[in-house]
Amino acid sequence: MAQIRIENVRKDFGSFNAVKSSTFTIEDGEFFMLLGPSGCGKTTTLRMMAGLELPTSGLIYIDGEEVGQKPASQRDIAFVFQMFALYPHMNIRKNISYPLISQGMPKAQVKKKVAEIAEILGISDILDRPVGGLSGGDRQRVALGRAIVRDPKAFFMDEPLGALDAEFREHMAEELRALHDRMNATTVYVTHDQLEAMQMGDKIVVMNHGVVEQFGVPQDIYDWPATKFVAEFIGSPPMNFLDFHGMVGIGETDVSFAGSNFEIPRQLEGRNGELTFGVRPEHVHLDDSADYRGEIAATEYLGTTQIVTLDTPNGAVKARVPSSVNVSVGTRTGLRFDARTVTIFDAANGRALK
Ligand code: ATP
Repeated sequence: MAQIRIENVRKDFGSFNAVKSSTFTIEDGEFFMLLGPSGCGKTTTLRMMAGLELPTSGLIYIDGEEVGQKPASQRDIAFVFQMFALYPHMNIRKNISYPLISQGMPKAQVKKKVAEIAEILGISDILDRPVGGLSGGDRQRVALGRAIVRDPKAFFMDEPLGALDAEFREHMAEELRALHDRMNATTVYVTHDQLEAMQMGDKIVVMNHGVVEQFGVPQDIYDWPATKFVAEFIGSPPMNFLDFHGMVGIGETDVSFAGSNFEIPRQLEGRNGELTFGVRPEHVHLDDSADYRGEIAATEYLGTTQIVTLDTPNGAVKARVPSSVNVSVGTRTGLRFDARTVTIFDAANGRALK
């Protein structure tokens, strides 16, 4: 088990700055997600923690020891790659035993350890099978077995489920999470899939263009995004943005906008506000008695809920409402925003103001 801290870590590839100064801490036993779009620097960040890439500057601590310039072999971690390269000429037992045998562990001890791991992974009855004909899921379990058998301090996984089809992916995600909960080993997991990150992670770092945009527990990141980027990247459909231009009077604690009263942070008092109000689709309510109105442009049926797209004076707004609500495209309806849940962003830099 391990606590991992990165402090002002930066990575340049030649003149290209892939990771800007990043700082965050992964607590002992956490399932920690590095999330962001392709090219944001998440894999590079993971590889620096694992020792597969050296930081250009900054410090990396594992359990308080600075290891930033040490190679992977001296960090006592296990890396689970997306493509599970098992040894094809060995059976499952030999694949899992290999790391222990190459460490020189006595045979009887290896046997005991492999039996334990096989039990955890539910593959005890197939240990002597060749790996050749295994299903994707069993290959994944064997690869995990090989990674966890050494009892490393931490696991590093780079899109481990990326190659699997959707249904199986969900199943393996649950298994991985359950395995983590049994073993409680610090796990750092790279994904570009916000749902996967929200479902599996104890904590999430959201990255964009080499910058850590936000770091926290999934619920806080969802409810209180630190930037417009995070608000759009997390949640499907993403947060609605409504632009407000106007003066915030002295002593005003809220502004009336788009038919609702939005509470505003103190710092804006007396300022000419260029603000963006962010409202999640589930906090937009259709209410025919409301004065603020829009035309229903589209509906998308999702089972128990539906997504209704409305053309409003402030642009397109999406509402998530129960499927039982009757809506028809082309008609007009009133809208209300649940203003207590709104996030207010500075329109100039996209940063949240509260
Ligand atoms: P993806 O999901 O596509 O792998 P990522 O968020 O994991 O994206 P990284 O792989 O960390 O992103 O790459 C970040 C940026 O650094 C990318 O623009 C990538 O092209 C660049 N990069 C990564 N490794 C190298 C390298 N060895 N040499 C040069 N540029 C690199």
